[in-house]
Amino acid sequence: ESPVTAEFVADDADIDASLRPKSLDDFIGQPRVREQLQLVLTGAKMRGGTPDHILLSGPPGLGKTSMAMIIAGELGTALRLTSGPALERAGDLAAMLSNLVEGDVLFIDEIHRIARPAEEMLYLAMEDFRVDVVVGKGPGATSIPLEVAPFTLVGATTRSGALTGPLRDRFGFTAHMDFYDPPELERILTRSAGILGVRITTDAAVEIAGRSRGTPRIANRLLRRVRDYADVRADGIVTLEVAQAALAVYDVDELGLDRLDRAVLGALVRSFGGGPVGVSTLAVAVGEEPATVEEVCEPFLVRAGMVARTPRGRVATAAAWKQLGLVPPSDLTV
Ligand code: ADP
Repeated sequence: ESPVTAEFVADDADIDASLRPKSLDDFIGQPRVREQLQLVLTGAKMRGGTPDHILLSGPPGLGKTSMAMIIAGELGTALRLTSGPALERAGDLAAMLSNLVEGDVLFIDEIHRIARPAEEMLYLAMEDFRVDVVVGKGPGATSIPLEVAPFTLVGATTRSGALTGPLRDRFGFTAHMDFYDPPELERILTRSAGILGVRITTDAAVEIAGRSRGTPRIANRLLRRVRDYADVRADGIVTLEVAQAALAVYDVDELGLDRLDRAVLGALVRSFGGGPVGVSTLAVAVGEEPATVEEVCEPFLVRAGMVARTPRGRVATAAAWKQLGLVPPSDLTV
């Protein structure tokens, strides 16, 4: 295959992979998580054992998968990837576990969505490195114990609150990944532009960083869309003007709110008078899955100071009313 063809077929997923940080030092942002992980990993390496199981929690696109790959890389072991929804039957998990080699890192994405039988099997595997495989049904069923090689489980979740207590208790370390601030996103963008060979001015990187919803995945995606615009409608260089014009085409506003964010805010304020309203009601109003509204939209709207969580439901803040060009009600307390 010629290099031209290879470049032509590279889709966003391939590009995403090429942009992943490869080591803890390469990882921009999340200083606390990096320091904590550094200690966990170095300690285990010094003692020559496998590190405790690690839970990574935070909204999508903040680098949980990248971090799991880095953990395996730093330990010099293999990473086995699966996800909660893929482990529907306990047998799926048993097969995965019995193939592990000592020291492997098993990554389970969306671990809060694991089915109950698989979850119960996981307890024993995490604690004692063995599983009981049940063969047969009814009175004739027997349980066959199976050894599992010592491994480190890295679980990722967008909803650590949805994890059952027993599962959460079996992780020795939980890292909370938070949204990135604009200077961090600017460094990520500059790094990505270097890898992709995109010429970008500093003010353009600052502009894109400010509109990336605090999320590296979005920053990288916006960079690719802005690059398209620069290549097609300008001279290939991403300047501030090019970035602004491109972001306008893709409906990304100054705060980085996307269409769904704005729909949720709009429904909250216009249809429900600013709330309080439950997440599922809000999700129905905008035609989305409650999980998407709760795990993707809401964390950023809360962080941006637009939405407050109250015991009675979600409430729009004064900033949200103003963002929509409306006057907040005088009795608003958030
Ligand atoms: P998650 O698993 O939390 O959804 P990923 O690890 O898949 O997030 O990250 C999404 C993309 O964002 C990655 O492909 C990577 O290119 C980029 N990314 C995430 N975190 C960083 C970071 N700290 N520095 C540079 N790029 C990052």
